[in-house]
Amino acid sequence: MNSSTINPTNESSILALVRSVMPQRALTFYEALRIAELQANRLLEISGINGSAVPSKIVSELPRIQVDYRDLPTSGLTFWSGDAWVICLNRSEPATRQRFTLFHEFKHIVDHGRTLQLYTGDHLHTADEQAERAADYFAGCALMPKRLVKRAWGELLQHPGVLALAFGVSASAAEVRLNQLGLTEPRLRCTPGTTRSAHPDGDPYRRGVPITPPATPNPQEVAT
Ligand SMILES: [Zn+2]
Repeated sequence: MNSSTINPTNESSILALVRSVMPQRALTFYEALRIAELQANRLLEISGINGSAVPSKIVSELPRIQVDYRDLPTSGLTFWSGDAWVICLNRSEPATRQRFTLFHEFKHIVDHGRTLQLYTGDHLHTADEQAERAADYFAGCALMPKRLVKRAWGELLQHPGVLALAFGVSASAAEVRLNQLGLTEPRLRCTPGTTRSAHPDGDPYRRGVPITPPATPNPQEVAT
């Protein structure tokens, strides 16, 4: 639908339009992530967003969404109060993280009533973990849209910190998005083939265990 035909103050239509991207069938997790990106794009399209630093108000000012800042043990939570969705954000966290959490929580609202179709769990993640990952992915797609990030990258804003400032997100969120878009490679946890100095906690590599090659050669390497 052309955004010019949509009344931007009709919040129920906006939520319904974002939800309408999802097909009425069970989805694989890969498909659920793809739907999350399409929903983020739909939200931006409806809101008429064409530039970076996507304003938080496209979610926070929807009439039946209320945003509260509270002391929380987590970054955020969402509940239905009876006449509105209440998104609670951790008041002590940086504004960039609160923005990301706002969009993450909005995805939970979008998914409400559909989670059994969207997230079924697999050998890697439980259904709840998938829902969390999809909410993070939605927030990344909404705050750092593929087209805009690639345009910024083409304008030589090729550092996570610089992109973070341009898009109003944390540097770590920008780094994750760049990895998702294939513009950078994921940073390795350690350098293969080296011995790390002792570390008080963490995984064995960080505790100084040397990485040795496998004792048995790969069968394909000796099958000639
Ligand atoms: Zn969540």
